[in-house]
Amino acid sequence: MGFQLSEFSLMDISRQRKRLLARVKMKGTRSLPTGIKKGLFQGDACYCPVCKSTIRQFEPFGGMDSVWCPVCAAMRWQRLAWLVLQQKTNLFDGEPIRLLHIAPEIAFEPRFKQLAHLDYVTADLYEPKVMVKMDVTENPFPDASFNAVFCSHVMEHIPDDHKALSEFFRVLAPGGWAVFIVPIRMKKLTDEDLSIEDPKVREKRFGQHDHVRFYGKDFEDRLSAAGFQVTLFRPEDVAAPNEHSKLGLSHKDVVFYCEKP
Ligand SMILES: [Zn+2]
Repeated sequence: MGFQLSEFSLMDISRQRKRLLARVKMKGTRSLPTGIKKGLFQGDACYCPVCKSTIRQFEPFGGMDSVWCPVCAAMRWQRLAWLVLQQKTNLFDGEPIRLLHIAPEIAFEPRFKQLAHLDYVTADLYEPKVMVKMDVTENPFPDASFNAVFCSHVMEHIPDDHKALSEFFRVLAPGGWAVFIVPIRMKKLTDEDLSIEDPKVREKRFGQHDHVRFYGKDFEDRLSAAGFQVTLFRPEDVAAPNEHSKLGLSHKDVVFYCEKP
């Protein structure tokens, strides 16, 4: 009898857990404490390097599998960026760095804020919670104000991306670096038509209603034209090939690491 009872309880817990999981996924996991999320999504198939969680899977997003981490909400390309920041930059070395973070990711912002050696500035045109409201083509900071810039999934929204990139170059101190990530098709050239303003046409052609282009491999040329020395980092530069699936990395993603000489 005792055995049957405990078996029933286990089934009940499992059913409740599934129901709770579905609800959490539907409503979003942001408000739940990290400890609870780590327990809910625990597994051993995947590992998120941002929040250091071992989980069953990364969640799908926009028709793509294995994108966001259910614990910290880091997207696939953000996990790659995190590994690049850890392995290829001085961001975590402990030396004083003034970092400008555009459109701060919820997975990164609280982690950057905890780093005492960072003089951390967040900025965005629309998000009210950032420290500085700014248009990236009218950067309000003086020349050489920052040692580092992090700017992911922003440039594809900006009609005059050359101006914005030049402005990022200007506000960086010599020896500083910027990391850019954009939705990109590395086998194609940039598809751009600034005369298209219909959100439906933009969505179909550029992947989202408010994107003004779909970048291709020549994004690197635009970065060089702004003055940067560009290095491309891909999953194989930061993790062994047999770890890509566990870390939820994709060969479609590229991190552009741009140095100001
Ligand atoms: Zn995570």
